[in-house]
Amino acid sequence: MEARMAGRTVVVTGGASGIGAGIAMSLAHEGANVVIADLNLDAANAQAELIRKAGGQAIPARVDVVNRDSVTAGIALAVDTYGKLDCYFNNAGFNKPMKFLDVTEENFDAIMKVNVWGVLVGTQEAAKQFIRQGTPGKIVNTASIAGRTGFPSFAPYSASKASVISLTQAAARALAEYKITVNAFSPGVVSTPLWKTLDKDLAEIGEGDKGFDSMSAGILLGRPAEPEDIAPTALFLASSDSDYITGQTMAIDGGMILV
Ligand code: NAD
Repeated sequence: MEARMAGRTVVVTGGASGIGAGIAMSLAHEGANVVIADLNLDAANAQAELIRKAGGQAIPARVDVVNRDSVTAGIALAVDTYGKLDCYFNNAGFNKPMKFLDVTEENFDAIMKVNVWGVLVGTQEAAKQFIRQGTPGKIVNTASIAGRTGFPSFAPYSASKASVISLTQAAARALAEYKITVNAFSPGVVSTPLWKTLDKDLAEIGEGDKGFDSMSAGILLGRPAEPEDIAPTALFLASSDSDYITGQTMAIDGGMILV
C-alpha cells in the first residue's frame, strides 16, 4: 500500500512545537516532504532533524506568519527544494489571557494579527502558488473549541478562532473554482508547550484555577489530547481521502463541544 502523502509537499506553520510538530511528523511518516515553517528557527531545525532521523523528508524555514514576504519566502523554499506545493497548514497561533474587562487594544491586536491575519496571508499565498502551478491544493487551518464557544479570559483568542472558522468558509467558497479545498479542525485541550505559558499567564491574572487541569476535567473521553490525537484528522484533511470536503471545521476535542 502506498503511503498517503507520497511525493506531496506540505508547509506546516508553527511546525516546530506541539500540534504542528505532531502533524509534521505524521505527514512525513506518510511520505510527505515537510517544511517546518516557524518563527523559532532553532526549534524548526530540531524538529526537521527529528523527522529526518525517523526516515522522513523535512527542512526548516524561519517564517513569521504575519509578514507576507516571509510567508512567500517559505513557500518558495518549499517549491525550490521539492518542486511544488500540495498542502499548506495554517497552524501557528498563540494566546495571552486577560480578564474580559482588562483586555487592551495591544492584546487584541497581537492575537488577531497572528491568529487571523496570519491565516489569511498563508491562505492567499498558498492559493496563489497552487494557481501558478495549475494544480489542485489543500489548505488546513487550526481553529479551536474557543472558536465555537467564548471563554471569559480568552476573549480575543476566542474571537480569533471564530474568525479562523469564518476565513475557512470564505476561502472555501473563493477557491473552489481552482480545485483548492480549505478546511479546519478545532482541538479542545491539547498537552503542548502552549499550556505551560498559558497556565503561568492565568496564574498571574489570578485565574490559576482555570488552566489546563480544570479545562481538562469535563472532557467526555476522560483526558486531554496529545498531539498524536490530532495528527490523524490533520492527515485526513491533507490527503486525497478528504477531496470531497471543503469549508468544514472538524472537532477533535474528546467531546467538549457537542453541536
Ligand atoms: P505551541 O506553542 O506548542 O506551538 C506554536 C508554534 O507556533 C511555536 O513553535 C511558535 O514558535 C510558532 N509561532 C508562534 N507565532 C508564530 C508566527 N508569528 N509565525 C510563525 N510561527 C509562529 O502551540 P500548540 O498548542 O501546538 O498550538 C498550535 C495551534 O493550535 C495554535 O493555533 C493554537 O491556537 C491551536 N490550539 C491549541 C490548543 C491546545 O490546547 N494546545 C487547543 C486548540 C487550538
